[in-house]
Amino acid sequence: MTKAFFGAIADDFTGATDLAAMLARAGVPVTLRIGVPEDGAALSPFEVIALKIRTVPPEDAVAEARAALRWLRARGVSRVFWKYCSTFDSTARGNIGPVADALMSDMGVDRTVHCPAFPENGRRVFMGKLFVGEDMLSESPMKDHPLTPMRDSDLQRLLAPQVQRPTGLVAFPTLRAGADAVRDALARASGHVVLDAIETADLTTIALAVQDMALICGGSAIAQPLPALWQAAGAMAGTEATPLPKPGPGRLVLSGSCSAMTRAQVGAYLERGVGYRLDPLELAEHGPDGARTWLKAQPAEADKIIFATAEPKAVAAAQERLGVARAGALVEDALALLGRDAQALGIGQIVVAGGETSGAVTRALDVDSLRIGPEIAPGVPWCFTPDGLAIALKSGNFGSESFFADAFEMLDEEGVVPAQ
Ligand code: ADP
Repeated sequence: MTKAFFGAIADDFTGATDLAAMLARAGVPVTLRIGVPEDGAALSPFEVIALKIRTVPPEDAVAEARAALRWLRARGVSRVFWKYCSTFDSTARGNIGPVADALMSDMGVDRTVHCPAFPENGRRVFMGKLFVGEDMLSESPMKDHPLTPMRDSDLQRLLAPQVQRPTGLVAFPTLRAGADAVRDALARASGHVVLDAIETADLTTIALAVQDMALICGGSAIAQPLPALWQAAGAMAGTEATPLPKPGPGRLVLSGSCSAMTRAQVGAYLERGVGYRLDPLELAEHGPDGARTWLKAQPAEADKIIFATAEPKAVAAAQERLGVARAGALVEDALALLGRDAQALGIGQIVVAGGETSGAVTRALDVDSLRIGPEIAPGVPWCFTPDGLAIALKSGNFGSESFFADAFEMLDEEGVVPAQ
């Protein structure tokens, strides 16, 4: 059985994907789990469990996170990461604090760090206050978030009512004194210690100081420098991955995104292959059988795309006739069904465009674990199911115009996916 070394528990799906892609950049195999696995072995040295617990009642969030922790520890994990959003998205009752407290209790540790900073994306922490771009968190658009409105920017003040242990801060002057100073400050602290970080280089200093801690909490950026440090220290010896499954040959793009970049990508791909346009009005009247028949008739190897992607005017017209929700659902359901058909037809490589669309297709494919493969564009890796299906999930504006062709070409390249 493969032994895992590092396990992350993420409070939502896209956060988990973001973290998994970040970790995979170090070249260490990463498996992403959709929900706490029922059972089974670890597949990679790094296991990331995607939960959906950001806004559920704190008791439920804690119970799920603890179940995830049990699964990870039973598979050898000695370093745990509690991944939440870089804007510290939480309600007044949690769930960042209660989950962190519960993980500390179960792991028997009396100290953890909180590092939501993601300087590359404008999330910076200074004197314990979180900034989004040039604004304090409480003055950023996050103040009006429908589920987790953030009305305070002081991370200790946000955490204190959510946790039972004390809170603390390792502030900027200590951080700039270097990793040893941070480590010394942490050794004197207990409970939940908030960490300042302004530039990407600060994350390297922090990583050096916290690399041996059992539990780290924060956004995905602090996870990026850690794998190289663990590898250099020989901490990951004895962990090895099961080989990446080799995907089958057929290929298909399913696009339900109408963003400007996706529209350009669909246009570019249609120039080299064949396509079928899904129209929500036609779906409402005749259902998806036309598209299903078309897909069955195409050779597996052909470059082909089924798309609902349309110009804003056409989208607005469909929404006016059907309602926004129904138009979206008709398209998502059809693409999900076509994804299942493609799998049944033995198509081994599927690219999905659209965030919501990706969720709908992934659920229909009944995927519960994904090995993270090479990145096609920043933040969009190829993912492999255990039975050898390669899928790439691309939200709206990600990737360049040639994204779809680039994605398939990458799988053709020798050595990108190691042969078994
Ligand atoms: P993105 O990542 O670009 O936001 P999503 O998949 O998250 O893409 O969202 C796009 C939404 O628009 C989906 O719900 C999809 O079903 C819907 N949609 C796609 N094409 C059309 C269309 N032609 N008319 C109306 N709605 C559409």
